[in-house]
Amino acid sequence: MIHLQKKICLSCRNFSLQDTQSGACKVVKGLATYPLKATGDTCDKWLDCGQQYFIRTGWIKGRLAKEHGDKGTTETGIIF
Ligand code: SF4
Repeated sequence: MIHLQKKICLSCRNFSLQDTQSGACKVVKGLATYPLKATGDTCDKWLDCGQQYFIRTGWIKGRLAKEHGDKGTTETGIIF
């Protein structure tokens, strides 16, 4: 079965995650500052980032858990 990724910034190759809710869109290269996008935003330039999506969601989970004072590991093996 083919899993179709939701076309949001969080799963986009042009996205660079900066915190748990947002990151920079680098679809236009060479800018001094890249536009900030929410993880749930989307546009027609979306490109699948593949495995990176799971690394990002793991990182967000870890960050949120840390904010709540929890310790543990994510399913991608990231220790936080
Ligand atoms: S705005 Fe478009 S190109 Fe930029 S990160 Fe989001 S989906 Fe990707």
